[in-house]
Amino acid sequence: MNKSAVIVGAGHNGLVAACLLAKRGVKVTVLERRDVVGGACVTEELIPGFRVSTAAYSFSLFRPEIVKELDLERHGLAWYSKEPRMFVPLPDGRSLYVWRDAARTVEEIRLVDEKDADAWPRWNAFWDEVAGVVRPLVLDPEPPTLAELETELDRRGKSELFRLAIAGSAADTVRRFFRSDAVQGMTASQGIIGTHASVNDPGTAFVMTYHAFGGELVDGAGTWAYVRGGMGGVTQALAACARSLGVRIITGAPASEIVVEGGRATGVRVLGGDEIRADLVFSNADPKRTFLHMLPSGTLSPAFEDRVASIDTRGSVIKVNLALDEVPDFLGMGGNAGPEHAGTIEISPSIDYLQSAFEDAHKGSSSVRPFMEVFIQSVSDPTLAPPGKHVASCFAQYAPAEINPDEWDLMREQAGDAVIDTLAGYAPNLKDAIIHREVLGPPELEARFGLTGGNIFHGEILPGQIFGERLGPRTPVRGLYLCGSGAHPGGGVTGAPGWNAARAALSDIDE
Ligand SMILES: Cc1cc2nc3c(=O)[nH]c(=O)nc-3n(C[C@H](O)[C@H](O)[C@H](O)COP(=O)(O)OP(=O)(O)OC[C@H]3O[C@@H](n4cnc5c(N)ncnc54)[C@H](O)[C@@H]3O)c2cc1C
Repeated sequence: MNKSAVIVGAGHNGLVAACLLAKRGVKVTVLERRDVVGGACVTEELIPGFRVSTAAYSFSLFRPEIVKELDLERHGLAWYSKEPRMFVPLPDGRSLYVWRDAARTVEEIRLVDEKDADAWPRWNAFWDEVAGVVRPLVLDPEPPTLAELETELDRRGKSELFRLAIAGSAADTVRRFFRSDAVQGMTASQGIIGTHASVNDPGTAFVMTYHAFGGELVDGAGTWAYVRGGMGGVTQALAACARSLGVRIITGAPASEIVVEGGRATGVRVLGGDEIRADLVFSNADPKRTFLHMLPSGTLSPAFEDRVASIDTRGSVIKVNLALDEVPDFLGMGGNAGPEHAGTIEISPSIDYLQSAFEDAHKGSSSVRPFMEVFIQSVSDPTLAPPGKHVASCFAQYAPAEINPDEWDLMREQAGDAVIDTLAGYAPNLKDAIIHREVLGPPELEARFGLTGGNIFHGEILPGQIFGERLGPRTPVRGLYLCGSGAHPGGGVTGAPGWNAARAALSDIDE
């Protein structure tokens, strides 16, 4: 095929699109503003010898079709599932594990609450059913609107599923299954990941669903994995695949403008440099950057600009990355690296705890007692830290929404302290073990990764911004495609928006 494409951004979705296009013979150039590829899916050196997944840290949602189509394992992608799935320390000094083996988890939960233990198999069966409904929609080029989906699920006698997995709140869904604070807390937290909403807000059930539709690369719904070498392993494999297909990837090349001639995108101008002309233009940048900052004024209708401007891109995440002298020694545990360090360490003791973390942020400060998920991948992947040392990645919420960088500068270290103090409440040696810490709130996530508002999904994945109401790969400008997480199905390391955009463009060429 004698066609060319230029892609703004070498996030994982831009790279997926690049590979698929190149496989079909399109001559592809990728422009990345940073000096490294990967966007928010990257491994970086925190301090010499300590490497960490700076932003995304956990792998599950990536489409198996892409791994197969691009033969990514041959290009170096390797992952291994977390075991346990979770270690949940509790404020009263007890703790429980969530194992991949459901029967083993039931016995763990039985120590906390008999009835909740009995409910665990029903909970798993519910998510298997939900995954069966959502998975086919992920790569759907024309996903239904929410109203259409509701009607369809009604028709199938599944209106309850629509409420519990999409329209309702995470808290309500969890309460339908469990009654103990501990089990409610550790499950409801999946409804607030990356979102500036409270666990009691309608639509957070869908955030839970979004985090449960993956796992097919491992062993089924909801299983999360680590990538060997950190999340940069995904984008390094994609970049290797792209280069093997002849894709030219230029880093340190911020695009300043998408060139439009006669209503059609014809190329991209690099800041202070050349214009790269192409038959097809893709943007992996988020919708606000793409449509409100990179197109010549007057290109889009005011209605479309308003729609983009109204996308909720508030950030909520504080990422604290640590270099550690030793592993955190959790109360009641042995001190050395053990199963408590191997999976996700979940600090989410109850629904009320999550609600109160949200209320702090709603009042304009960061959470005093943040919700967090902590990963110490160096325990299972020693390539990430010097012998005997460790890296930890703490994904915490909430940062105050819409905070300006100057205000945040005054608040950042205090927010970092709240994360460390909270975790140290469960593992008292933590503070002395810290060699270095990095605190990334929404302004840092925006500056480093180009995520508007620091929103990790290029826009919330809540009703009103999902399925048919999210942007798609085709845009109002002919020849311009949106290939990043701002397009259906949304954020996370799925590869789906990149796949969908490449397929849309290739089918437009074929017509
Ligand atoms: C702290 C954090 C934790 C997360 N945890 C997880 C997790 O554990 N698991 C998971 O699945 N997901 C996680 N996510 C979400 C996930 O990482 C993102 O949704 C996903 O990586 C976005 O991929 P993308 O390719 O669509 O866009 P991005 O990764 O945002 O890539 C866009 C690229 O475009 C570049 N760019 C932007 N503008 C320009 C320009 N003008 N010129 C040139 N280049 C430009 C950017 O520099 C960037 O490289 C997390 C995100 C964050 C921030």
